[in-house]
Amino acid sequence: RTVYVNGDYLPETEAKVSIFDRGFLMADAVYEVTSVLGGKLLDFQGHVARLQRSLSELQMVSPVTMDELLEIHHQLIEKNDLDEGGIYLQITRGAGADRDFLWPDPEEVQGGIVLFTFAKKITANKSIDEGIKVISIEDLRWGRRDIKTTQLLYPSFAKMQAKKAGATDAWFVEDGYVTEGYANNVYIVKDGVIITRQLSNDILHGITRAAILKFAAEAQMKVEERPFTIEEAQAADEAFATSATGFSQPVVEIDGVTVGTGKPGPVSKRLREIYIEEMPKTAL
Ligand code: PLP
Repeated sequence: RTVYVNGDYLPETEAKVSIFDRGFLMADAVYEVTSVLGGKLLDFQGHVARLQRSLSELQMVSPVTMDELLEIHHQLIEKNDLDEGGIYLQITRGAGADRDFLWPDPEEVQGGIVLFTFAKKITANKSIDEGIKVISIEDLRWGRRDIKTTQLLYPSFAKMQAKKAGATDAWFVEDGYVTEGYANNVYIVKDGVIITRQLSNDILHGITRAAILKFAAEAQMKVEERPFTIEEAQAADEAFATSATGFSQPVVEIDGVTVGTGKPGPVSKRLREIYIEEMPKTAL
């Protein structure tokens, strides 16, 4: 695979970053994952807008312009002959002198940037056909989950807990209410109404969430943006999760309790179909 690191396209085995890079030492970094379908980027505009917001909230400066970023994405798709999968992009605050809790001056220290592609079947897979099982776990992440940082130790811990319990994903719960999934936004459907937590600093503002809610509104589906509990989710007609590479993914079991019929529900299926049909129209 050819990857991009700080200005160079290199074979992945030759790519190197400094041990003093703050992304490595302190998770002082933000990231994005954009899916690729038919060799094109889905909702690149949305991902770039969120990236700029993440950077600005942390007073970080991108080492490349957003036009250059699109060009790098395209180069990597071409060099790796990528048809279906995604691109991971990470921007760090760069490598300061030694290890310092204080941020270096962006005029003096340039940010670090890394991109790599991954090939993956995202349009069809077993978890879409059968739905996935999830567990709930206390949300012990920091309070600015709206910023997409690389502090992913707790989500990774949560995913391990899910695996141990024979499930696939974990849903975070705070003060009795579901915030979001370990790496996705979550929804339930009850009596034809789609319910999902409203945006705030408590959750990541999913790019897929925005698209799915727009498609739901266009299809005259009813949406309520409010928090819900695990008990309410277990008693729902269906449940699903959204993310850039997962689109809308059916959830059929929560903490050992079957949701609805135990099969993927019609609402998540329909939204998934619309998403796959509509998104390529604006792909870059
Ligand atoms: N919530 C969290 C915590 C995430 O990590 C992600 C994606 O990685 C999402 C939600 C979904 O966001 P998006 O639809 O932009 O991929």
